[in-house]
Amino acid sequence: MIDATMEQNRSGFWRNLALWKKILIGMALGMLVGIVMGPDAELLKPLGTLFVNAIKMLIVPLVFCSLVVGVTSMQDTRQLGRIGLKSLVLYMATTAVAITIGLGMGSVFMPGEGVNMVASDGAIAAKEAPAMVQTLLDMIPKNPISALAAGNILQIIVFALGLGIALNLCGDKGRPAVAMFESLAEAMYKMTELVMKLAPYGVFGLMAWVAGKYGIEILLPLIKVIAVVYLCCVIHVLVVYTGMISLIGRLNPVRYLKGLVNPAAVAFTTTSSSGTLPATIKAAQQELGVSKGISSFVLPLGATINMDGTALYQGVCALFIAQAFGIDLELSDYLLIIMTSTLASIGTAGVPGAGLIMLSLVLTTVGLPMEGLAIVAGIDRILDMARTSVNVCGDLAVSVLVGKSEGELDTTIYDRIGGSAKETEFG
Ligand code: ASP
Repeated sequence: MIDATMEQNRSGFWRNLALWKKILIGMALGMLVGIVMGPDAELLKPLGTLFVNAIKMLIVPLVFCSLVVGVTSMQDTRQLGRIGLKSLVLYMATTAVAITIGLGMGSVFMPGEGVNMVASDGAIAAKEAPAMVQTLLDMIPKNPISALAAGNILQIIVFALGLGIALNLCGDKGRPAVAMFESLAEAMYKMTELVMKLAPYGVFGLMAWVAGKYGIEILLPLIKVIAVVYLCCVIHVLVVYTGMISLIGRLNPVRYLKGLVNPAAVAFTTTSSSGTLPATIKAAQQELGVSKGISSFVLPLGATINMDGTALYQGVCALFIAQAFGIDLELSDYLLIIMTSTLASIGTAGVPGAGLIMLSLVLTTVGLPMEGLAIVAGIDRILDMARTSVNVCGDLAVSVLVGKSEGELDTTIYDRIGGSAKETEFG
């Protein structure tokens, strides 16, 4: 009898716990179990894969339906252009600041000093820069169905924008289709909520696998690079984003930090900002109070082109490799790194490890040895976790700022984060 009551209390405790707390507990336990089990923790990976697949399943229908609804709810097409422009400017500016932080910290802490590597020629092939014109042309899907099937987010954005604008122009005739998209979008939000309930377990499985795979021994030689990348990530979120939230948005930055915990934890463990998109959209709307119209446009765009974490990682790694091979960089090289890293981060897909491939682009442009990639590759997952979280936090910050400036931020929701109402709703 007593046992039964205790059991009930225990399950009641877990059930009533806010989702973000469950996710953090899942991460911590996962790390612990991974360290204890070592490589055997691979056994727990399917738990993570299950969650990742479930969340990936949501991306295309969620982005498509919510974006169409976002556009149809904005009757004013000028507003759409304004939102697009504001997002682009903020995305580019924060990315440039991120690389500068990466380069600054890389110069101060010199993570590659004393590594002493010698370059041989062209062991690893570099990635070619995609032509700008082609990238722009490719944004328009020749076949929207295959864009949806392939999950090409930029093409889906373009088609959904077009469809939304067309439905607005149709007036009464467009209403039934708008109502259908509204209802589908609602269903996708609900489904995201359900899938997010799996997050603590998925995060546990992924964390255990990573901690088991990369024991302390693998990390030690490169601990300085890891530390510098993580430090830059923390600075970027705690100084740049919260600074923008309080100075430009005139909002309480602590609320922003609390609101980003769920998607940041999902990003940290899945290392995919595209894969995290459903969690990011959910957090923006339900925890930070960004309107559906703004969040469904700004966030998918951000998940595709805004990669601040990736940019600062490229800055640190380029310096690390230069230092490790004893190559002195000049001011012009630094400027070249800033430029190519910004462009490379825009072209980076929001999938695991994409930043490492784009790093080759930065290295060739600056004339740094490709072998550097091989060293970084060994610890890339660990770096990817931090940079993906920053990528997602950046998208959220911009969505809050754009929402605020358009009068599309519900401050009653924003200010309520951490309050009991939200905690029980997601628990
Ligand atoms: N994994 C990152 C993301 O999805 C991209 C990268 O590898 O830098 O945001």
